Parts: sequence; structure tokens; C-alpha cells
Amino acid sequence: MRNELLTWFAREGMLLSSATSSDDPDDDEIKIVVKPPMIALSRASKDFRECPDPLDFGYPESSLEMMNIDDMNQFVMEWLEHAVAAGMGRCFVCNQILDNSDEKPWDAVLITRDIYCWLLVHFDCKRYLSRDLKGRNPFEVAADPPEIFGDMCI
Ligand SMILES: [Zn+2]
Repeated sequence: MRNELLTWFAREGMLLSSATSSDDPDDDEIKIVVKPPMIALSRASKDFRECPDPLDFGYPESSLEMMNIDDMNQFVMEWLEHAVAAGMGRCFVCNQILDNSDEKPWDAVLITRDIYCWLLVHFDCKRYLSRDLKGRNPFEVAADPPEIFGDMCI
């Protein structure tokens, strides 16, 4: 992830940090690990993605400076709609593959407790969400780079 995007998340207070020390007793260095928000395409650990970077979608370099959290939400929402259209999105609670028909409507939710994460969930499944989020440690999740959807590029 670009430093500019990390800085943006820091500015918005969405960067988690964790201090870890090495297991080696001779090494007293404390490492600070930072974790930007992630996207969960499903609850499976292989389906976590880094937040997409507007720059990769053709946005001008200066766009981050002008974006606030609502703009970022909208950008991520658009990315998620493309992911669902590609058959990659699953409900975080019931694990069903989502689609963009209105039959079983879903929502993208930004979780801000313990972990910063956008995830997908059916409206009907939302009430079970806190149960399924319990015990998630963002520092144990390795997120893959996000897919670049060509028709989302400007
Ligand atoms: Zn569901």
C-alpha cells in the first residue's frame, strides 16, 4: 500500500497499530506494526483484501487529499459492487454468494470496533454480525492486494 494512502487513513484515525517485541531475548527492539482498514469479501481469511487505492483506478494523484471518509466509503462501495458482480462476494454471516439482484439485498458495512473492515452482509443477516466478528484480530489477517476492475477505472 502506498504511503499516501496509509497517511490518509492515519489522518482519518483509521490506522491501528500494535507493538510487538521479538522472541529473541538479545533483540530488544520493539516493532510497531500498523494495519490499515481491510475488505472482507467473505469471512474466509483468503478473501481479505487491502483497501483499493483510487490511484490504481485512474484517479488523479491529488484525489486523496480531497477525499473524506464518505468519499472513500463510496469508492469502496463501488469496488464491492464490482466484486459482487464478478461473483466474488459472500455474506459474512451466512456465507452465501451475493448478487446484485434485489432478491436478497445486501449491504456493505464498515466495522470500526477492534478491526477496521468493510464487509458484505445480507440485511437479514446483520443482527448476527457482532457474533461472527468476535475474536477477530486484525493483526493476524493477511490481506491480499485488491482486484483492479477495468470498467471501474476512470
Ligand atoms: Zn447472509
